[in-house]
Amino acid sequence: MNLAEIGIKAARDGIAKGDFTAVDIVKDVISAYKAKNAEIGAYLSFDEEAALRLAAENPKSIPVAVKDLINVEGQPCTCASKILEGYLSPYDATVIKNMKANGFFPAGRTNMDEFAMGSSTENSGLGVTRNPYDTGRVPGGSSGGSAAAVGANMCIAALGTDTGGSIRQPASFCNCVGVKPSYGRVSRFGVTAFASSLDQVGPMAKSVEDAAILLKALAGRDEMDGTTPDMPVPDYEAALTTASMKGVRLGIAKEYFDVAGMDDEVKRLVDAAISKCEQAGAELVEVSLPHTEYAMAVYYIIAPAEASANLARFDGVRYGHRSKRADDVMSIYTKSRAEGFGAEVKRRIIMGTYVLSSGYYDAYYARAQKVRTLIRRDFEEAFGKVDALIAPCAPTPAFEFGANQDPLTMYLNDLFTIPSALAGVCASSVPAGFTENTRLPVGVQFICGGFEEEKLLRISKAYEDCNH
Ligand code: GLN
Repeated sequence: MNLAEIGIKAARDGIAKGDFTAVDIVKDVISAYKAKNAEIGAYLSFDEEAALRLAAENPKSIPVAVKDLINVEGQPCTCASKILEGYLSPYDATVIKNMKANGFFPAGRTNMDEFAMGSSTENSGLGVTRNPYDTGRVPGGSSGGSAAAVGANMCIAALGTDTGGSIRQPASFCNCVGVKPSYGRVSRFGVTAFASSLDQVGPMAKSVEDAAILLKALAGRDEMDGTTPDMPVPDYEAALTTASMKGVRLGIAKEYFDVAGMDDEVKRLVDAAISKCEQAGAELVEVSLPHTEYAMAVYYIIAPAEASANLARFDGVRYGHRSKRADDVMSIYTKSRAEGFGAEVKRRIIMGTYVLSSGYYDAYYARAQKVRTLIRRDFEEAFGKVDALIAPCAPTPAFEFGANQDPLTMYLNDLFTIPSALAGVCASSVPAGFTENTRLPVGVQFICGGFEEEKLLRISKAYEDCNH
């Protein structure tokens, strides 16, 4: 058996029975990395020695691939940016500490869009990642490396981050389960910040059960992240034993279905998913999220604004790249940043600085925050009537390299994932089958209220069971 092909549950069971150890698993993961990474490019780096050492230290633990913006002591943390090439993390992020305390360990660093800005991983400054289902296509993004590593069986499971869709959309493109937890459910201490009022870390896995087990290991209060409330973490795995669609009120928001640019095959597969849920006992309820049409505009003010502030720390002095052409303090900043950041990151910094500048702050940032409140209320109102929303993850399956050259077209990929990110609620992406001619995977999205991960996972599992 190739142990890189199994998931978390099977790994845990096999270890418990004494069939294999963490070292055996990580050896197979390393073999998969060596065999496939030249083609897939899921990983930016893989410190084999460190992974083998961690496995030997705790032979009952399970390796997890980590998106290259989450700090692991002694490992690179490039955020797929030239500006952080050569940087080594001085400490473990809280999610890494939590993983280690709960039977997991980090192994390998996955590619991503630079600083998580993008939807295809094409914005990586350090490498190309290919979709394992069609290497002429992108894996999605920004957690494209993590999704490809899971989809290509180059890991057992992976960590991604989601600011506006970066776990769910690549999970949909690469046939994995992805969970974006509610804002505050998982600590971001040690996770390189993109947009601090949106960022969340979450699991990308081979089944809903695997995602539940990993999420339980990650979640909880952290003194180092003030957005994590002191709320107990439910046993997400145990919650799945009662997974059922019977009596689940499933909301269908018309704003997520009558959309220009929606691929016919995606529509067919999502419609089929809805029918399966209904046959399994769900009650379908039509709802409306009337402010959806403003979500993109709001996101592309708030996220760049916060990014422009967060990325100010990359100044050529404290981290990573320093320009060799700099000859005074100012030119250390300007030249290092000009050389280190890619085009999309620069675009966001410029947009973000603009919307925050005096004279424009009220017109853009303050106004966007007000509309964000209306978007959040849309969800609150919908969740007064339904248990969960069902929706597409993305308007299309994985697209070809270069297909979305225009940044605006690329931004539209996140139409179905951005509103729930702005509302801070939780959402999943679950595999829903393949397109007919191109044989590309497509995921369906479930969205639940804030801190309702138990319910979200139960409904996701109940849907997953419909496919087996
Ligand atoms: N694609 C979106 C963006 O570029 C979302 C990215 C993310 O969730 N990190 O901002």
